[in-house]
Amino acid sequence: MNVIAATGNAGKLREFARIFAPFGIEVTAQKDVLPELSVEENGTSFAENAFLKADAVHRLTGRAAVADDSGLCIDALEGAPGVYSARYCGEDTSYSVKMQHLLEELRDVPEKERTARFVSHICFIDEGGSQIDAKGVCEGLIGFKPCGNGGFGYDPLFMINGKTFAELSDSEKDACSHRGKALRILAEKLEQHHR
Ligand code: IMP
Repeated sequence: MNVIAATGNAGKLREFARIFAPFGIEVTAQKDVLPELSVEENGTSFAENAFLKADAVHRLTGRAAVADDSGLCIDALEGAPGVYSARYCGEDTSYSVKMQHLLEELRDVPEKERTARFVSHICFIDEGGSQIDAKGVCEGLIGFKPCGNGGFGYDPLFMINGKTFAELSDSEKDACSHRGKALRILAEKLEQHHR
């Protein structure tokens, strides 16, 4: 099976390909099919935005499409940046600036109150227009400085079992990440669907 990944985020695209591969699902990048497409993410929930992205690609191509809407929800910031994670401090701002800004906002927050979670909502729409959703959550803590060179986005700040996502190997991150969990749930639902 081949599915278009409705994303322009290279980090997400790599994870889609890696996590789907064992299930025999091949991923086509949105930029190779619809290079001009930019979907306005004006929903107020991860679920709404994931649908907007998958639906746009499905309607324009008639092909199966999968989208992830995800973000980092920090308890001490009442769930921010959440659905605005990519737009935090401005869409074109580098992640080193975004992370410094977050660290500044959390300057006086002690370790035990730095709880956070990554959330991924996946929306899959098949060629015929049937929709399947899946969600994954990964609980962790926000560190006191960025650590590690792997992954993408906020990975150098998000800690699980004493290491940041950016210090884990790809397979270690995929085994526990929000996106790993959500995409495996989706792949299993697809297997049941086609049985
Ligand atoms: P969106 O789903 O396109 O709105 O973007 C999600 C944003 O959340 C990304 O651009 C990152 O800022 C952040 N994010 C989501 N998943 C991850 C992850 O696995 N690691 C680091 N940052 C992530």
